[in-house]
Amino acid sequence: MNKTAVRTLQQFLQKHDTYSGRIDGIRGPKTRAAVEASLATLADELPKGADAWSDRRRAIACLQLACRRHKIEVGPIDGLWGPQTEYATEVLAHLQATGKKPAPWRDQQPLDANPNGWPREAELTQALGTPTRKPPLVVVPCPWPLALAWDLNTRPSGIGCHEQVADSLARVLARIHDHYGPERLRELGLHRYGGCYNKRRKRGGTSWSTHAWGIAIDWDPAHNKLKWGRDRARLAGPEYDTWWRLWEEEGWVSLGRTRNFDWMHVQAAKP
Ligand SMILES: [Zn+2]
Repeated sequence: MNKTAVRTLQQFLQKHDTYSGRIDGIRGPKTRAAVEASLATLADELPKGADAWSDRRRAIACLQLACRRHKIEVGPIDGLWGPQTEYATEVLAHLQATGKKPAPWRDQQPLDANPNGWPREAELTQALGTPTRKPPLVVVPCPWPLALAWDLNTRPSGIGCHEQVADSLARVLARIHDHYGPERLRELGLHRYGGCYNKRRKRGGTSWSTHAWGIAIDWDPAHNKLKWGRDRARLAGPEYDTWWRLWEEEGWVSLGRTRNFDWMHVQAAKP
């Protein structure tokens, strides 16, 4: 039971009118007294023998009952701090902070369409030639204004990509623009363009990056760092579901959605 969990418990006790102390994450005498007062009203939901539990165990049991009240699956009321209780407590904390439960990220399945026949990464040299030679690039105009992520005063007119992916990219950009509109795209940080063609190896790897063929694009890199997972990356949020679906319908792959890192990156190649 960590400090955040104690804070979550204190907030529940406060709402339950048994606690008037500070929400400080410390399980002191006031918190203990409030736990006992709340458990007294919930006694019929406690298992036999709970009277003999330690203060800590009774506090956890109280937190479990709080989760159950909010219809958060928490398992048996046993006063033990296992993974199910820990996860349920995180859900309760989110509910207290925002008024709603977190969006179920496990349900966000990436589409596996491939209408344009994008090659596998391992077959890219065969399909598109070696990246030591510059690929044939064309600039696809972007329907909403772009700003270079590391120099927002620089406004690229479009995205310089491999000619083989240009038509698909234009379709994706048009659909995204139709769905969100330029203002919303700006709010979502999707004007922050992080580059496409770049003759380089994979960061943290030795093979060629898909950027070396001009078939990958990075978006808003400052808020979607390479090693960040869905708990930190902005592009993992539910408001980006349609954004990703529109890429995936054209066969593009998000490394974030498929492998939970490099959420900035989308590529026209299958991993
Ligand atoms: Zn990238």
